[in-house]
Amino acid sequence: MRFHILILSAFLCVASLMSPGQAKPERAKNVILFLADAGGIPTLNAASFLEYKAPQKLHIQSWPHVGLSDTSPVGNYVSDSANGMTSIVTGVKTRNGVISQGPDVVRGKQDGRVSKTILEYAEERGLKTGVVTTQSIADATPAACYAHANDRGKWGEIFSQAFTPRYGDGVDVLMGTGRERIGTQLAALGTSYEKLAAEHKRPINERLEDVAADNMRPIVVADKIDVRAAALRTLEILQKSKQGYFLMIEWDAHTDDPKAGLEHVVGFDKLAKEIEAKVNLKDTLLLFTADHSFGFQLDGGAIDEPLLAGYDEWKNSADKKGAVRLKNIYVNRRHTGEEVAAMATGAGASQVKGFFPNTKLFHIMLGAYGWKP
Ligand SMILES: [Zn+2]
Repeated sequence: MRFHILILSAFLCVASLMSPGQAKPERAKNVILFLADAGGIPTLNAASFLEYKAPQKLHIQSWPHVGLSDTSPVGNYVSDSANGMTSIVTGVKTRNGVISQGPDVVRGKQDGRVSKTILEYAEERGLKTGVVTTQSIADATPAACYAHANDRGKWGEIFSQAFTPRYGDGVDVLMGTGRERIGTQLAALGTSYEKLAAEHKRPINERLEDVAADNMRPIVVADKIDVRAAALRTLEILQKSKQGYFLMIEWDAHTDDPKAGLEHVVGFDKLAKEIEAKVNLKDTLLLFTADHSFGFQLDGGAIDEPLLAGYDEWKNSADKKGAVRLKNIYVNRRHTGEEVAAMATGAGASQVKGFFPNTKLFHIMLGAYGWKP
């Protein structure tokens, strides 16, 4: 009898360790971070109306886990992309304009402490990594994943850092735009695409179509890129990794041009759905968020009239510099300070909940992998 009680208490002990409240954390082998640049909640809301004539019809709006992420930087109310993304991928808030360095930085003048990025953690552990963007591959959002700089404008220096990694063999796949300006800055630093490619034995392609079929570490710096094609190609490469991968995909969602901005969100959402169908959610975390919000407002209109009524007139008008006033939409064309949504599905997604600082997203991704900072 005493023996049975012992067995029973041992069993209860184990059972209590595994009770729902303390369930074993889910482990992700892979993390895909979808970053809608400037994709605030009002922008997501209007994108759903534009495409589906109804609210909350975006695919990402069906993901089971949602939280509200504070994006504020150190020293200001409102974030730019550099601080916003740095906070998400390093877990350390910094000053606007700064790429993955701490707030002890003096922008453009003096480096701050290096903040290790989730991509660098992944490289350190032998995972494959990729960064894909509609924007310049050296712009703030992609840069914060693989580089450290005291000013986001230093595109030549930032791009060059992809070839001198601090961990592993550095970012494996880079695909984006910015060909001309990065090239100009490389020249000012006494180097070039050709020199970097030769020194590091990695071709730097100008078009996605030019990437060799057997190149498992491709770099594309284009003038313009089909981000869907680039993302799917990158995913195909990263999925060959036995250790897993980290992939960041950025799609610009600024609504300076409201039609273009909302269509980008619709396209990005469809891409997220397409990618979700290609991964196993039991071992992959999908996280969708924005680096900061934007002054976009849907402030009127009947459901049977076009959401973008008045857009063509605005587009054809001479002065498009100030705020955008369409019949039902107002855009002040500035970043705004309120929280952005973070949506997640897959392994480790349940940690996305409530209000939190955007730095928590770093810890959620790290925790999903089962790593400690
Ligand atoms: Zn941004």
